[in-house]
Order: sequence, then structure tokens, then C-alpha cells
Amino acid sequence: MKRILTGLKPTGDLTLGNYLGAIKQMIKYQEEYESFIFVADLHALTIPQDPHELQERIKKFIAMYIACGIDPKKNTIYVQSENAFIPAISYMLECTTSYGEASRMIQFKEKSRQNANFSVGLLTYPILMAADILYCDADYVPVGIDQKQHVELARNIAERFNNRYGETFVLPEVLISKEGTKIKDLKDPTKKMSKSEENPQGVISMFDAPEVIKQKIMKATTDSDNIIKFDEENKPGISNLINILAIMENKSISQIETEFAGKGYGEFKKYVGEVVAHEIALIQTKYEELINSQELDNILNDGIKKSQQLAQEKYELMCAKMGTKR
Ligand code: AMP
Repeated sequence: MKRILTGLKPTGDLTLGNYLGAIKQMIKYQEEYESFIFVADLHALTIPQDPHELQERIKKFIAMYIACGIDPKKNTIYVQSENAFIPAISYMLECTTSYGEASRMIQFKEKSRQNANFSVGLLTYPILMAADILYCDADYVPVGIDQKQHVELARNIAERFNNRYGETFVLPEVLISKEGTKIKDLKDPTKKMSKSEENPQGVISMFDAPEVIKQKIMKATTDSDNIIKFDEENKPGISNLINILAIMENKSISQIETEFAGKGYGEFKKYVGEVVAHEIALIQTKYEELINSQELDNILNDGIKKSQQLAQEKYELMCAKMGTKR
């Protein structure tokens, strides 16, 4: 079975966009691949974080992913910073990466331009990402277009290391998530629903109370046609709601259009609100059961054990190949 790896950066609250756009896809992947999922807490440190908040978010993220349907029996789930071999491997990979190559990363160029006081971690974190991917011989890394270049960097580093020192790493491949599942902001449906958005009215958090969710959907920006038809260009608001309902109910867009033909926006929004609020409420109940449970600690303890074992093996192999082993 091929191995797939997903890193979750614990910043901001998870949104309906994350759930429908990414988590549901991961739930499908866990049936097809041997899946590794980790909280990328070290990656969050490239910019200063509130330590207390970060600590809280780590467990919160994992509990929410599991509540959404990520099955701990089908996934190896762990916290990145608990595996000290990963930064050690990362350093060895840094020595196999040229400065020019690292500084050509688009994200580094953009973010270092925005903040003149950027950390060295901003430059090296794609190499840490390469370590995350390569230590466990991941075959596939599902990422958005913005992270594609970093997975390609990991592949290039792996190839160079293999050529220089002999076969050590599997060459990972990018798995670009399918188009068409972008959930839009409810207040401005021309942009993506994002956890960093300042106006909370446009964003459904996975932690919103059901009544708040219903209210936000009722107040979602739509046109004044009162015709429930998917047309992203001319009717982005209503198209977004159709899309949300189609994914939620596992139906096609045209099925939704047929079901709601002749009905008004008020009735449609009320229905979408109820479906979304109901599903999120069920997820929240599971989340509450998990968040302070021994079960969650057991899952993370099992995950890190497996992760550490693999990373230690890879680290020792690298040491032997590079000549640092006595
Ligand atoms: P982010 O929350 O931006 O770090 O993204 C984490 C994952 O969730 C990525 O795979 C994104 O593509 C996905 N994602 C985030 N927001 C949305 C959205 N509004 N619609 C669809 N997918 C999303």
C-alpha cells in the first residue's frame, strides 16, 4: 500500500472550508493509502506564536480531525515536535541543499519581502518539510498549489542525496487536491473561506454553535434573482451554498438544482443551514468526548512511537551513509 502524508499547521480555527475542502478528501485517502497525519507545530514557529495558545491548539486540531472522521486505526497520528529525529534529519538535508535553491522558494521570497525581520526558520522550513516527508518514505503528499514547490524541493533533495550517498529515500510525489471544492466566504463569495478572514460573519468555524451557523447561512450574500441555479460567475453566493449542500449530502449540483426548482432563497438557506448545523453539531459532540480524554493521549502516544521508530532508523541510515557513525 502506498504511503501518504499530511501536515496540519495549527494556526487559526478550522473552518467549514477546511472540512469540506480538505478533511473530507483525507477521509477518502485513508481508505486507499497508508496514511500519516501530523500536527506541524514546528512549522507554526517560523513566526512568533503565543505559547499558551499554540499548546492548546495542538490537541484541539487533532481532536477535531478525528471528530470529523479521521480514523485513528487507519492513520498514524502524531505531533511533529515530539519526534526529535526530524530536526536532526532536517539539518543533514540542509547540508544537501544549496542556499540558492532554498532562497528561490516563492513563499520565502514573498514572506521575507513582507517582513524585513524574518527568521532563518522561514528560509529553512521547506527543508524541515522535506525531513517530514522523507523520513517516513511518503509516496504522496497532498497539498494545495502553494505548497507544490516545497514538495518538489523535497524530491530534488532526496534525489541528490540518493545520487551522492546511495539509495536512501523514496522520491515523493505531489498529489494536487481536486479543483471545484473551494468553499467561498459567505459575505464575499468571490474569495475563499479562510480561517484568517477578519469578518467572522463570512466564515463558519467548526466550533460555531449550531444557531450561529444557521444565522450566518441565512445572512449569506446572494443575488436577487431568487432562482436556485449554479452559476459561479453571475451568482457566486447561491452557487457556494449549492456547492456546500452538494458536498454535505453527497449529491450532484444538478440534483440540488432539481430538488429546489421553484423554491425561494429563504427556504433554501434555511435548509442548508439546518444540514450544516446538524452535521457540525454531531462533530462537536464527538470532539467534546475526545478533547480531554485518555483516548486522545493514547492515539498520540501510539502515533509518536511509530513515527520515532521510523525516523530513528532513517537517521541512523543517513549517519552511516554520510560517515558520522562511529
Ligand atoms: P489552510 O487552512 O489554508 O491552512 O488550509 C488547510 C487545507 O484546507 C488545505 O488543503 C486547503 O486547501 C483547505 N482549505 C482551506 N480553506 C478552504 C476552502 N475555503 N475551501 C476548500 N478548501 C479549503
